[in-house]
Amino acid sequence: LKQYPNLKCVASMGAGVDFIMADPDISEKYIITRVVDPMLANDMSEFVIACIFSHLKNLHFYSQQECHKNWERKEYLRKKEVTIGIMGLGELGSTLANDLNHLGFKVQGWANSNKETIHTFVGKDELTNFLSSTSILVCLLPLTEETRNILNRELFSKLPKNAYVINVARGGHLVETDLLDMVNNGHLSGASLDVFSKEPLPQDHPFWGHPKIQITPHIASISSPSSVVPQILENYHRLTKGKQLKNEVSVSKGY
Ligand code: NAP
Repeated sequence: LKQYPNLKCVASMGAGVDFIMADPDISEKYIITRVVDPMLANDMSEFVIACIFSHLKNLHFYSQQECHKNWERKEYLRKKEVTIGIMGLGELGSTLANDLNHLGFKVQGWANSNKETIHTFVGKDELTNFLSSTSILVCLLPLTEETRNILNRELFSKLPKNAYVINVARGGHLVETDLLDMVNNGHLSGASLDVFSKEPLPQDHPFWGHPKIQITPHIASISSPSSVVPQILENYHRLTKGKQLKNEVSVSKGY
């Protein structure tokens, strides 16, 4: 940011702002905005719901079996048998929670503050209780200093045995070797991962071809230019008129 002495505002083209906050010269003097878009939230919700049903009905297992012409049946789960725990109840997490509720899932969430319509666990003090009653964990947190590496061995060990992990937030939330160990030692039943510490995922990464880890190339929800550009233009006009911008993020909170 130091290269632009007249800079007033940086607009993220997506929901996340972690790559902007990572600049060592970030400060409260800049206005940072992000995209808040119902389509983005809806796309994320549909993607996570697809991952949840894929897990319940063993679809990753069957697609691997198909490659080997194997005919083996596996017991499946029903939605009444699981509790979905969503870390992060912001624009994306709360849309997902509402959609899952409508589908008849038991849903709870973890955030910094209580949400009226979702059973919410608040802050570090309530994290253990949240985890112990979650069978499918979805990470939709922003990546901040507080949430980096939050999906680690200690956290996984607080989930019940056979819990399943879905990370659609950022690769920096997950300690990848801890996840591998906890899947390989049988504590976790598996994971769906859309984001990674290094993208594209390196060719020799142990996630490739892992029978219990389903991977996708950071496509859970992609900002559409037709919806992003008008938001940024509107904010530009607001800025030139000295008005408050829409969808500002807090530099001190990091999201
Ligand atoms: P958001 O509206 O800013 O919501 C963030 C949520 O996380 C809030 O509920 C917040 O709590 C909670 N939170 C933040 N820090 C926390 C902490 N330390 N402890 C507990 N809760 C905490 O974000 P969003 O728009 O839903 O997006 C979430 C993330 O999804 C983005 O930052 C981005 O990285 C990721 N994303 C991924 C894709 C993809 O394709 N894979 C696409 C879009 C976005 P409060 O409500 O109490 O403040």
